[in-house]
Amino acid sequence: MEKQALIERLKEIVGPEHVLSSDMDLALYSYDASLEKAMPDVVVLPATTEEVSKIMALAYKEKIPILGRGSGTNLTGGTIPVKGGIIVHFSRMNRILDIDIDNRTATVEPGVITLDLQTEVLKKGFVYQPDPASQKVSTFGGNIAENSGGPHCLKYGVTSNHVLGLEVVLNDGTVVWTGGESRDNPGYDLIGILVGSEGTLGLTTKIVLKLERAPEAVKTMLAVYDTIEDGANTVSAIIAEGIVPATLEMMDNAVMRAVEETIKAGYPLDAAAVLIIELDGMPEGMDEKIRQVIEICRRNNVREVKLAKDEAERNLLWAGRKGAFGAVGQVRPSYMCCDGTVPRTKLPEVLAKVIEVGKKYDLPIGNVFHAGDGNLHPLIMFDERDPEEKERVLKASTEILKICADAGGTISGEHGVGLE
Ligand SMILES: Cc1cc2nc3c(=O)[nH]c(=O)nc-3n(C[C@H](O)[C@H](O)[C@H](O)COP(=O)(O)OP(=O)(O)OC[C@H]3O[C@@H](n4cnc5c(N)ncnc54)[C@H](O)[C@@H]3O)c2cc1C
Repeated sequence: MEKQALIERLKEIVGPEHVLSSDMDLALYSYDASLEKAMPDVVVLPATTEEVSKIMALAYKEKIPILGRGSGTNLTGGTIPVKGGIIVHFSRMNRILDIDIDNRTATVEPGVITLDLQTEVLKKGFVYQPDPASQKVSTFGGNIAENSGGPHCLKYGVTSNHVLGLEVVLNDGTVVWTGGESRDNPGYDLIGILVGSEGTLGLTTKIVLKLERAPEAVKTMLAVYDTIEDGANTVSAIIAEGIVPATLEMMDNAVMRAVEETIKAGYPLDAAAVLIIELDGMPEGMDEKIRQVIEICRRNNVREVKLAKDEAERNLLWAGRKGAFGAVGQVRPSYMCCDGTVPRTKLPEVLAKVIEVGKKYDLPIGNVFHAGDGNLHPLIMFDERDPEEKERVLKASTEILKICADAGGTISGEHGVGLE
């Protein structure tokens, strides 16, 4: 099909103002948060499942590549149209359709921003647990496709543990539902197949999510270490003791420095690493659990444990953590984030090897990651405009992921595989 004919046909489906095809528009859809780039032929912004179905059927009939897009924050090139074709941007399908507190579910369109739903349900005393650090901009369509994680997924599980139903438009335009508001569905676990399939099996148009009551008590601590190894050993020791905190996040000195230049979260710049340890649950027994955790930190040579004294201090600790990727832009203009996972007890050994890779390729590497899950995020900082440096980054990142795999881990904990 000729490009102009395709554009005209798409305009008939969604209305002329919702089809983008100028050079400027296409350039804006040629990148995401990865290092990859490629131009689509056309971008279309549907408002309903029916429109998505017609677009999919057209692409199927004409054999045109098609890609869904939420906010384009994926780090693996999942929204890069390497073969051109159509990008379906879900920004107009951004309604929270229902919050059903009695059934503890929420039904959303794929373009809803993760934090927008979380803010709405919190007003009613409920939470949607998965909290990717990008939650201020990421959409549920993207969260589902990547099976996103986040700090609180250590205790509560990643996105796939919180999806009850999906409406999906298959490649030929057929609309199907799998699951729904009820908790137990017979038959194959199709939700399990769809969540994390990175948009390869169809486009998601409605999502039923599980809600949980907000915990009555939350306590957040910052544990400060003089060596990364002591911090990493603390992580395994806490879990081995039978305590599962809501979060166990680690940040090294390089990342703390970058954060302090922008967010001023109060991280200690003379420390090698910090752990953000959050406990949640019932108020009864919380003090005892805090005492136990501090004791484990002490056994692992912690220098200091600071307990956030109020909500403002807690928010500041988290603002630093969640803004860390952006903050490393202070050090170098570009970064590549590796997403390997390793068995948690291997963290000290693998982190030491990551530092060696940085030295070998003469690249600054910072670490900020979901330590409790053994999910590393080495951030390799560089300048994308320097092709020789970029080449070294690609070699270093490949080597890091190989180290993770050799340690019994995987090449992606939560960011997906995409083009990487
Ligand atoms: C600063 C920063 C911090 C991050 N922190 C985390 C983190 O803590 N945890 C984590 O897991 N990830 C994190 N990410 C990665 C990213 O934000 C997540 O993968 C997020 O879920 C992507 O959402 P999105 O709306 O931007 O999706 P996009 O980037 O737009 O798309 C991601 C994938 O989903 C597909 N897709 C989008 N919408 C649909 C749809 N409706 N139907 C079918 N497929 C669709 C796309 O084709 C693509 O393959 C981070 C990224 C950044 C930049």
